[in-house]
Amino acid sequence: MELHTLKAHELQDKLRKKEVSATEIAQSFLKRIDAVEDKVQAFITRTPEAALAQARRVDEKIARGERLAPLAGLPGVLKDNICVKGTKTTCGSRILENFVPPYDATVAARLAGQDAVILGKTNLDEFAMGSSTENSAFFTSRNPWDLSAVPGGSSGGSGAAVSAAMALWGLGSDTGGSVRLPAAFCGIVGLKPTYGRVSRYGLVAYGSSLDQIGPLTRDVRDCALVMGAIAGHDPLDSTSVEAPVPDYTKALVPDLKGMKIGIPKEYFVAGLDPAVEKAIQGAIEQLRSLGAECREVSMPHTEYALAAYYLIATSEASSNLARYDGVGYGHRGQGNDIVAMYKRTRTEGFGEEARRRIMLGTYALSSGYYDAYYLKALKVRTLIRQDFDKAFDQVDVLVAPISPTTAFKIGEKVEDPLAMYLQDVCTVPINLAGVPAISLPCGFSGGLPVGLQIIGRPLGEEALLRAAYAFEQANDYHRRLAPVGEV
Ligand code: GLN
Repeated sequence: MELHTLKAHELQDKLRKKEVSATEIAQSFLKRIDAVEDKVQAFITRTPEAALAQARRVDEKIARGERLAPLAGLPGVLKDNICVKGTKTTCGSRILENFVPPYDATVAARLAGQDAVILGKTNLDEFAMGSSTENSAFFTSRNPWDLSAVPGGSSGGSGAAVSAAMALWGLGSDTGGSVRLPAAFCGIVGLKPTYGRVSRYGLVAYGSSLDQIGPLTRDVRDCALVMGAIAGHDPLDSTSVEAPVPDYTKALVPDLKGMKIGIPKEYFVAGLDPAVEKAIQGAIEQLRSLGAECREVSMPHTEYALAAYYLIATSEASSNLARYDGVGYGHRGQGNDIVAMYKRTRTEGFGEEARRRIMLGTYALSSGYYDAYYLKALKVRTLIRQDFDKAFDQVDVLVAPISPTTAFKIGEKVEDPLAMYLQDVCTVPINLAGVPAISLPCGFSGGLPVGLQIIGRPLGEEALLRAAYAFEQANDYHRRLAPVGEV
């Protein structure tokens, strides 16, 4: 059996039993990357030497009989909007093409503290704006289940790397679905934690009131492992929640007795692919047979979520992206005076979608339009949050689709931004409300995975992991490997 086909928890076990060394694990993944990366194109930057050096340090610790942290020696990848000291962090943008951060993001520091092995930085839509990686300034990543399809976005590089067995785990960021959508399209597990559960320090900001870092993994146990490593209070992030981090692996029990599950009818939107709907309905039946009590609930403001999201996210983006002016760091264009320099810098540095959003957000925040757009969107956000509060008075978790369709073809939606935005209809309400949600595979349609979404109360990650684990164990989707063009 090849090591790269195993799960993180399986390799953790083998490492502890000294059946394999950390160096052998790292080498197996580096070999796999050499074999399939040309086809998948998940990485912006690879760091093989650093990975092998880290693996050797783990082997030395093992030789000295030292205790290992849970992720020690287990190789993973980071989305390229998460700062790693001394490693290029581009955000998929020309404007940061040569940016080398002088500091580590808190999640990167925590992973280093666990002796995790980092294989590299992965592709994304520019500044995490998109649903397919087609907005990356560099290239489009491919879906390991069908190389002519997108892997989802914006954390598509991390999703593709994990799904193609080039990494055991990946980190992504989720502002409106960017961890969950690639997980769904690539047939793996992705968790958007509660807002504030994972530190955003060192994550390049897109929509600061929505952004949250989360894991992409091959199964639910691995998701629990990575969450345990990255969650927790951070004084460097003022929005970070001060609550103890539970041992998430304790939540993994294979039955759902006593769990109340709500099915929000508004998530079964017009335009939902019948094959996706069938897979979700099948999953609900299965959850019922595992002991859960399922009932329909109503979340009446859901239909306004997409519009509110695209006003709030673009407004925050227009403000966050104002810092790229060619002065402090990043690309600088030539100009005879400072205004000409700013203009050249930003015209050359930002791609079309980033520019569209900067303009939309600037418009929504400008005087005279602020009340009509931005403020109104904030009020809608409150109503959506109240829908969740009311639903969670009746049930423990909610179940819905992740996306109305399976992975679409590369090029299919690039000319139509609104069609692209519609991909996010089932994921953005969760970010607006700040609650956690997990995506996991619940079926296949035409050879492509379908994602199931389970949504929880604030800080209710354990309930999500429990429901997801019970469902996963009753199926075999997590045992299937993506063909990566080999069929
Ligand atoms: N597709 C959404 C957007 O473009 C979500 C992106 C994300 O979560 N980073 O805004």
